Amino acid sequence: MSEAPRKVIIIGSGPAGHTAGIYAARANLKPLMFEGLARGGIPGGQLMITNDVENYPGFPEKIAGPTLMKHFRDQGVHQGVEIRTEDVNKVDLSKKGAFKVWAGDDNKEWTAETVIIATGAQAKWLGIPSETALQGKGVSACAVCDGAFFRKQPVMVIGGGDTAMEEAMYLSGLCSKVTLVHRRDEFRASKAMQDRVFKNPKIEILYNTEVDEILDVSKGEVTGVRVRNNKSNEKMVVDVTGFFVAIGHTPNSDLFKDWLELHDNGYIKTKPGTTQTSLEGVFAAGDVQDFVFRQAVTAAGTGCMAALEAERWLAANSSH
Ligand code: NDP
Repeated sequence: MSEAPRKVIIIGSGPAGHTAGIYAARANLKPLMFEGLARGGIPGGQLMITNDVENYPGFPEKIAGPTLMKHFRDQGVHQGVEIRTEDVNKVDLSKKGAFKVWAGDDNKEWTAETVIIATGAQAKWLGIPSETALQGKGVSACAVCDGAFFRKQPVMVIGGGDTAMEEAMYLSGLCSKVTLVHRRDEFRASKAMQDRVFKNPKIEILYNTEVDEILDVSKGEVTGVRVRNNKSNEKMVVDVTGFFVAIGHTPNSDLFKDWLELHDNGYIKTKPGTTQTSLEGVFAAGDVQDFVFRQAVTAAGTGCMAALEAERWLAANSSH
């Protein structure tokens, strides 16, 4: 048996999902949120693997990522968001105003007039053991989030796309030196971004280079990186204290790919300046639709937009 139709179902529990929840609850839309399980992604999103957040406005010193997400969640609950700690398994968005969502181990069916998708994205990692061991201890996938902890220190950036160029440029403004490591002999980043990197005297580029090991797991901090030239097989250790992986992100958009228009890179398409997807009544907020800014504060901003847009859509279209 399916439950009575909901006005709003929110899928995802990062800054975008919770902000959408807070706004929707305050508009008396009685939102239901599926926050996900730890096995399918961490409830709370990428901030749950971020140590210190210094750029979320309102916290003059800093705040731990998981603490910030607890505040988001508590505020949502306080405002009346109903939260289910379940993964969504499947959706059927074929019927406007009666979208279906199946969730949890019992695969229970839910119906909603509007859906807000806030499932986020995940940074891609190299997948080597030392990287996992030192995550949050000098290994990061976000220069804007963590770069300031490495002021005046040498750091390494991995990747050859626009993100890697951007991260290297950003870090060059803070750090003493940036070593940019790429596995091939040419970048795939846009020419303009490459040119900026080439002109930057603080960035040294190592082409045809791969990472064997990040040192030093036994010390619980980054002291250097053992790299290997994949043409000459020459090995060396580069002394750095920060290690930034910038090899792309994967949006969590798989559930929706049969229903919504996606960009070629898998992110959900939204109408510029809105959170409206290709289906009326379905909105997308946060990193699942944003491959440019990817910040907690921009995710929260689009979460707010999605709730307001859902409210407006319901005011114009709801039959209940
Ligand atoms: P991309 O997929 O464009 O680039 C990923 C890079 O990482 C590639 O150079 C790739 O190498 C390398 N890489 C992938 N896997 C590995 C691995 N296992 N080991 C070593 N290297 C690896 O991702 P981006 O995040 O850079 O960009 C994603 C999209 O977002 C792009 O469309 C980009 O243009 C856009 N973007 C735009 C920005 C802007 O306009 N300001 C800023 C940031 C991103 P290889 O080249 O050998 O495949």
